[in-house]
Amino acid sequence: MFCVIKKSTIAKFLCIVLGLGLVFGIYFSNKALVSAKPSQTFCVVLDAGHGGIDGGSQGKVTGVFERDINLSISKKVESLLKTLNIEVVQTRTTEDGLYGAFASGFKMRDMKARKAIIEEANPDLVVSIHLNSFTSSTSKGAQVYYKPNSEISKELAEKMQNLFAKNLENSRTECFEGDFYILTCTKKPGILVECGFLSNPEEEQLLITDDYQQKVAYQIFCGIVSYFDLVDF
Ligand SMILES: [Zn+2]
Repeated sequence: MFCVIKKSTIAKFLCIVLGLGLVFGIYFSNKALVSAKPSQTFCVVLDAGHGGIDGGSQGKVTGVFERDINLSISKKVESLLKTLNIEVVQTRTTEDGLYGAFASGFKMRDMKARKAIIEEANPDLVVSIHLNSFTSSTSKGAQVYYKPNSEISKELAEKMQNLFAKNLENSRTECFEGDFYILTCTKKPGILVECGFLSNPEEEQLLITDDYQQKVAYQIFCGIVSYFDLVDF
């Protein structure tokens, strides 16, 4: 009898140990899955505005074209996002536009090509990168626009505008709705970032430097990462 009871107790003990092992095993494997999951499932389309014969705005001091700085900043944002395994699709990766061989009617062909890239990528978010220009040379600062009638895009724009205001001393504090084709051509949420004014000589001197472009790119990266709830900045 004693021997039977002892065996039964040992069996119960083993069952408890195995059961606990199974429960903790599932718990920790799920934890690992949860923490490994987020960034790998997100996709962002980065759209470097202009390209080719469409230079965008131009700096008065150095003659630099917006298209080249847009691309440089986009590539820096891509590098940062890839550190978190966020998938990135660029609408262009060279200085060329997307309009093909003919100059005639290039702008609409260029924009339609960007729309096709967004549709193919089926991203979680579209971020278009531009530089601003104004008749007054005193206007300055990064300005974020959001897709019309998209509350989630507005939330991201507010977050990113705050980051610019907080971390780039010359920035504006209010974001605005932006009725831009690149934002309205898709149902996906999106923002357009005017990273600064090339019509302002002081800001032009900042925008041409690798260091300042990196600072701008980092704010865009932080905004996107916050949007995906990966890290709150
Ligand atoms: Zn532009």
